[in-house]
Amino acid sequence: MALVNGNYANLKESYLFSDIAKRVAEFAAAHPDKKIIKMGIGDVTLPLAPTVIAAMQKAVEEMAHKETFRGYGPEQGYDFLHKAIQDYYARHGVQVDTKEIFISDGAKSDCGNMTDLFDDSNVILLPDPVYPVYVDTNIMRGRKILFMYGTPENHFLPMPDPSVKADIIYLCSPNNPTGAAYSLEQLTEWVKYAKANDAVILYDAAYEAFITDDSVPHSIFAVPGAKDCAIEMCSFSKTAGFTGTRCGYTVVPLGLTRRTPEGGELNLNKMWLRRQTTKFNGVPYIVQRGAEAAMLPQGEKECQEMLAYYRENARIMMRTFDKKGYTYYGGVYSPYVWLKCPNGMKSWEYFDYLLNKLAIVGTPGAGFGRMGEGYLRLTAFGSREGTQEAMERIEKDTL
Ligand SMILES: *Cc1c(COP(=O)(O)O)cnc(C)c1O
Repeated sequence: MALVNGNYANLKESYLFSDIAKRVAEFAAAHPDKKIIKMGIGDVTLPLAPTVIAAMQKAVEEMAHKETFRGYGPEQGYDFLHKAIQDYYARHGVQVDTKEIFISDGAKSDCGNMTDLFDDSNVILLPDPVYPVYVDTNIMRGRKILFMYGTPENHFLPMPDPSVKADIIYLCSPNNPTGAAYSLEQLTEWVKYAKANDAVILYDAAYEAFITDDSVPHSIFAVPGAKDCAIEMCSFSKTAGFTGTRCGYTVVPLGLTRRTPEGGELNLNKMWLRRQTTKFNGVPYIVQRGAEAAMLPQGEKECQEMLAYYRENARIMMRTFDKKGYTYYGGVYSPYVWLKCPNGMKSWEYFDYLLNKLAIVGTPGAGFGRMGEGYLRLTAFGSREGTQEAMERIEKDTL
């Protein structure tokens, strides 16, 4: 008799984006004349950078000839991409070994697959508001989850509580959904906590490229000693517009080890290599050439021009909210503005107000956890014209 994983019964049905889509469709049907501006879903809109396209076209051409055709590649990625990522880290002041870098089809996969390396008895510590992937992938394993709360008081950057014992800690900085980013001092405290508890930090740096200020670290490995307690997950999705192209990377330090329940000790870099070579067959060569181009200095420059466009959208949004006297977070090192709903409205109440009165779509903060109630996430990934028009509508509105 086949038994299924009963933990799946404990997953909460996620109605967030289907609920939003349903309400938007109803509004559109009732008001065909209204131009709806979507600032909800966290997806990029600008096309890939020219050098990325050129590199992928060249790779396609290589695949057309017997002499340069490639079949299976190394599961953990090609060395040319490891090297480009290593150099990118070095330009931001962090040294990583190429053997610490693993290429994948994205940070969401790595985030879920990483649960393979850890025993199910681990206590998981998650931020709230939270990227829902961290929650659901651990519920699927039946693990005990503790939450630490992001609040206006801590600027949505929860810090370690020495009385809480956790084994695996998820940090996301710059944060989705709040846009908040940890300083070097704050990350140093987290590394201290992880070491004191023999814990491991899973650090999601998917938005690192939005950081423009040297005082905010791009990587947890900017903290001395972090290689003894942290794994970093990163992605080309937001950095280089690869949400549809699919490529990410995870850095697992060579010296990172932890005990087994049986009392032995295993090396996490070796475990991840074994896991990936067993269950994954690598990212397409063509995509890895595109990713390499995005990491080289010219590609980084072109990608930063794309991010500058999104950053300007965020500035336009923040200027409007300043004028209105609204409270908001994020928007600086992040494509997300985390807006406190005006007049004490609840998330869905304000969502409905914006949709029905101004034809603007956001994401209700309540969909990201208990602490998200009363907030709305707006993204800067849209067009300049759309962003400007949405902000004009908000400025003219009486609320
Ligand atoms: C978008 C995003 C990612 C990237 O996921 P991919 O699978 O690489 O597209 C990772 N983490 C967070 C928090 C994100 O918002």
